[in-house]
Amino acid sequence: MKGLRYIENVASLTLDKDRCVGCSTCVTVCPHRVFQLQESKAVMVDKNGCMECGACAVNCPVDAIRVDPGVGCASLIINRWLKGKNLPSGSCC
Ligand code: SF4
Ligand code: SF4
Repeated sequence: MKGLRYIENVASLTLDKDRCVGCSTCVTVCPHRVFQLQESKAVMVDKNGCMECGACAVNCPVDAIRVDPGVGCASLIINRWLKGKNLPSGSCC
């Protein structure tokens, strides 16, 4: 998935660090390497790499991650295709 990028500064992804128990599941499941484990807590090291697939949120055992799947990248592409519009330069998945 390297090289595939989301549109800058629009990902709905949030992380509640206080809830995180450091299991590293989000690090494992994220195809875009958005998370790293630092000092036994998840941190977002590349939020703009998130394409809102939802895998991290679904698999987090303590509900520390929120993301709205389908509101971002894929939806944008499909809607623009349907409307016959080009994507912004420099985007996307
Ligand atoms: S999956 Fe949840 S609990 Fe586990 S490291 Fe990620 S944010 Fe923390
Ligand atoms: S929603 Fe998908 S791409 Fe975004 S951080 Fe979670 S696992 Fe990674």
